[in-house]
Amino acid sequence: MDEHRYAVIGAGPSGLAVARALQRAGVAFDGYEASKGVGGLWDIDNPRSTMYESAHLISSRTTTEFAEFPMDSDADYPGHRTLLRYFRDFADHFGLTERFRFDTRVTEVEREGDGAWMLRAEGPSTGSATAGTIVEQRYAGVILANGTLAEPNVPSFRGEFTGELLHTSAYKSAQQLTGKRVLIIGAGNSGCDIAVDAVHHAASVDMSVRRGYYFVPRYLFGRPSDTLNQGRPMPARIKQFIDTRVLKAFTGDPVHFGFPKPDYKLYESHPIVNTLILNHLGQGDLRVRADVDRFDGETVHFRDGSSGDYDLVLLATGYSLDYPFVDRSELNWSGYSPSLFLNVFPPSFNGLYVMGMIEASGIGWQGRYEQAELIAQYLSALTDRPDAAADFRRRVADEPWPDLTGGYHYLALERMSYYVNKDAYRHAVREAAGSLREDPDAAAEGRRRIARVLGRSKHGRRGAATRQVSS
Ligand SMILES: Cc1cc2nc3c(=O)[nH]c(=O)nc-3n(C[C@H](O)[C@H](O)[C@H](O)COP(=O)(O)OP(=O)(O)OC[C@H]3O[C@@H](n4cnc5c(N)ncnc54)[C@H](O)[C@@H]3O)c2cc1C
Repeated sequence: MDEHRYAVIGAGPSGLAVARALQRAGVAFDGYEASKGVGGLWDIDNPRSTMYESAHLISSRTTTEFAEFPMDSDADYPGHRTLLRYFRDFADHFGLTERFRFDTRVTEVEREGDGAWMLRAEGPSTGSATAGTIVEQRYAGVILANGTLAEPNVPSFRGEFTGELLHTSAYKSAQQLTGKRVLIIGAGNSGCDIAVDAVHHAASVDMSVRRGYYFVPRYLFGRPSDTLNQGRPMPARIKQFIDTRVLKAFTGDPVHFGFPKPDYKLYESHPIVNTLILNHLGQGDLRVRADVDRFDGETVHFRDGSSGDYDLVLLATGYSLDYPFVDRSELNWSGYSPSLFLNVFPPSFNGLYVMGMIEASGIGWQGRYEQAELIAQYLSALTDRPDAAADFRRRVADEPWPDLTGGYHYLALERMSYYVNKDAYRHAVREAAGSLREDPDAAAEGRRRIARVLGRSKHGRRGAATRQVSS
């Protein structure tokens, strides 16, 4: 084993971000990707992809793309095929594609007695063999970038539904809904996208919701809504006050369209960037139903006492975090998600690093890239500036962790368990990365101090002065 070599699991946006950051920092790594190529869930042909034909970016292009590699598209919200091309171009442009082993699924990462990690993976089968080739490789550490939206969260319901039961992870195109009486359970971004698909194909569309939602239009004042007020974060209370009124003015009150009144404030849960759903409700193309009480054959009973008959129930019930190849204790799980410093570092600093375990409104891939830079800074500090790395670990152990909520009281839901406020998060990540970097100001001050000391002493106390500055 090269004692400073790391493994990266996954070549989606997060895996590519960390590969690029490690490359820039000169940290050696090997990438492993279960699918045939880069792009993660944006490759609809990746068996783990939860993409569907009608999917487009939800955040806008300029707030989402990697800053050093603008997207070759004029669309504000490009579709998934454009995005796949973007990631392929990104990986090829920086020479990252060849750093990954494709068709190679990591099956286990296990800590060894000396602190190194043994990675086991199954590669493609060769010749007539049906089983894949087995890979075993030791690494100094492993960066997990295997995605957060792949493992379906399937709630249990009372009774039995005898029609077709599908999770959004298995939804690919509207043909799956043609001519069917469809009930969509949940109104997250995917649920709403699919409802909009469904109204053009299904025999009828109902949507069952547990709580109210806030609907953000894609455009406000003629611009992509997430490009407004960039870089000038307002205090949570003021932003909630202003944006609630702006939304009311632009989209009206979702209660008039049949949704329950939200029992929480704007931004305390992930907002839905979709107003087509309100248009279709206004046109009578779909109906909002109450929370599900129980199934009975093809009938679904709702908590308000009403019921409906359906051919297909589509569970838009989200995803669970899953790192199946590593012992849960290594990731300091607490409830629905691992409890990690800045959602990246297990407090034991055991050599695992998690990329992409952030959900936030508008953090984009650049936000993920900043996470990657922090990992790269820490790994290069381990070899080049061990004192800085030790000081970083000490602060993580001894000092309170930064508040990543931005002052918002997020709902205590599974999907919100690793949610952050993008401004608070990016600020905290940059601060942490800055503390690991060789500080040019400190270096300049050091040089000034050396010059002063040398100026005072003509008889060579140079060694003492240098030691003093570098300690
Ligand atoms: C419909 C939809 C729309 C979205 N829109 C936006 C948006 O507008 N803006 C935004 O910022 N985000 C959006 N997202 C969120 C999306 O998750 C991120 O954009 C991004 O794809 C996350 O990248 P990732 O690399 O962390 O995970 P993924 O893209 O899921 O990539 C993980 C990779 O790891 C690989 N992998 C998994 N397990 C293993 C293993 N054991 N061994 C080897 N490889 C493995 C997978 O094959 C995959 O290639 C959207 C998601 C969906 C589903």
